[in-house]
Amino acid sequence: MVDCLFCKIVAGQIPGAIVEQNDQIVAFRDITPQAPTHVLVVPRRHIGSLNDLTADDDGLVGEMVRTAAAIAARHGHAERGYRTVFNCNADAGQTVFHIHLHVLGGRHMAWPPG
Ligand code: AMP
Ligand code: ZN
Repeated sequence: MVDCLFCKIVAGQIPGAIVEQNDQIVAFRDITPQAPTHVLVVPRRHIGSLNDLTADDDGLVGEMVRTAAAIAARHGHAERGYRTVFNCNADAGQTVFHIHLHVLGGRHMAWPPG
């Protein structure tokens, strides 16, 4: 098994502030929140980056995106809006190589991102 921080959170070996989980995914609060709401949606199965996705993962990614929208709605961000982000590799600033969808809400966010 790869030595992976998010695999350890999924397995309960490292604590995470879990907000939602099912058989495919786990969502927990980012330890360094960049907005009033900052949740990470991750698959239970280790996938290193978006570059490793295959067509077999289409359902999983759909589940991740729909879960992100549901979490944003539950936090009251559906109407005003929120941002979802997958960072991939160095130029995007990916630091944890287990795919995760950031859900950020509760403040205005600029575009383009830095
Ligand atoms: P990225 O830069 O897209 O790879 O995002 C990784 C995210 O993981 C960052 O926003 C970190 O703050 C977050 N993070 C790192 N360690 C933990 C942890 N133990 N629990 C929750 N979030 C974490
Ligand atoms: Zn992992």
